[in-house]
Amino acid sequence: MRISTNQYWVTKFGGTSVATYAAITRCINLVTNHPNVRLIVVSAPAGVTNLLIKLCQSSLSQIELIPILDEVKTKIHAILDLLKPDTAEHLHAEIRQLIKDMNRLALSLSITYNAALADELLSCGERISARLFTSVLLEQGVPADHLDARCVIKTNASFGKAEVLIPETTQQVAKLLLPKCAQHMIVTEGFIGSTADDKTTTLGRGGSDYSAALLAEAINAEILQIWTDVPGIYTVDPNLVKQAKVIKNLCFTEAAELARFGAKVLHPATVWPAIRKRIPIFVGSSFNPEAHGTWVCPTPPNHEEVELVRAIALRRHQSLLTIHSLEMLEAHGFLAKIFTLLAKHKLSIDIVTTSEVSVALTLNHAGNCREELLTSEILNELQTIGNISLSIDRNLSLVTLVGNQLHRTAGICQRIFNQLRHFNIRLICHGASAHNFCFLVDDDHADEIIKVLHAEFFENDHKLQESI
Ligand code: ASP
Ligand code: MG
Repeated sequence: MRISTNQYWVTKFGGTSVATYAAITRCINLVTNHPNVRLIVVSAPAGVTNLLIKLCQSSLSQIELIPILDEVKTKIHAILDLLKPDTAEHLHAEIRQLIKDMNRLALSLSITYNAALADELLSCGERISARLFTSVLLEQGVPADHLDARCVIKTNASFGKAEVLIPETTQQVAKLLLPKCAQHMIVTEGFIGSTADDKTTTLGRGGSDYSAALLAEAINAEILQIWTDVPGIYTVDPNLVKQAKVIKNLCFTEAAELARFGAKVLHPATVWPAIRKRIPIFVGSSFNPEAHGTWVCPTPPNHEEVELVRAIALRRHQSLLTIHSLEMLEAHGFLAKIFTLLAKHKLSIDIVTTSEVSVALTLNHAGNCREELLTSEILNELQTIGNISLSIDRNLSLVTLVGNQLHRTAGICQRIFNQLRHFNIRLICHGASAHNFCFLVDDDHADEIIKVLHAEFFENDHKLQESI
């Protein structure tokens, strides 16, 4: 059966889905069931990227590198040693060479740190993974080929968190990837790309989802599948609230808000390429493909039927910067100055509230990141704007309710505040979007708050039963 390019499915497998030979075989059963799957994007086997990141720390002595490298090799050999030696010899040879490259790169990095070399080392996890996956496909008799993602995903030179150059990438996909997909299934790496002068780059932690979405956009795929180890996107992190439920359908906006505000299943950038081309995304577990999974689709939900609150997200370790200045009084252009300065330092503002003489804001951390974004250099520069005083509150958590028509629904605030009556709310943001209501609370209170809000909005049946 001939499948036209706009019927292709792009399928991404996360780290746990490709961590063992048995897990890879499960993935292969999934893709061979669907002739439309033409492009497979893989992460490094679970745990490998974390170990490679440890190896990038220049503070490690050469002796300290050995056990870390051994751990990486054990994970890889656990799969490699089970492969039939004669089916994909060229790929096995490339994997052995990549293991040698990892040793060499780790050694050089322990002598002098270099961001480009660190990305070269980090890329090895995905590059080995893609070759292992292709080898298993080939030995199971599935015609397939490996294509190095660095030939198609073109980026700038911001090593560690490179920005993808969409026109260049689309051009390379048309030239190199599409003709190959027409022949058979192609396996490529998530997370990695390369600069115009072919230096290896990485797209930031969890970036494989984003790679898959970009490739789906570039080939104008029919569907993007993200297979992971959980059966979909939940109403709240199931590690925090055991009553969490899988959400069967989300619209693009809801999924984008959820990913942005801390739900970890989808990388925040993933939804945008899919939104641009209106490509539905399926999120499911490769360990339990029969479970329903979550579909993220272009059409907004029918408001008559859909619940007001769809999910709750949590982002910990937020810092709130408050800038106070009497010069703001009836002045103009003050906020512009602050925002311009933050923009100059490439800091994007997450939430903001203002009063006559002060403005409070949080910065957009990638995921739940503890990294201090407000360096003393930036704080000093802010001081030069005018006669201002600054304060920073740390150890806050951002709790977000994601839903629909939240800004037009009477009574929603009462339901939220009633649950929060015993807690201090440091800041509230509501009204800018129909889809979210968010507030900052103490890190220490966040778990409890999530539980009571989940009970309020998602466990009503259960509460009714209790009261009967
Ligand atoms: N292997 C990379 C990471 O762990 C990318 C990914 O899995 O999405 O961050
Ligand atoms: Mg991931």
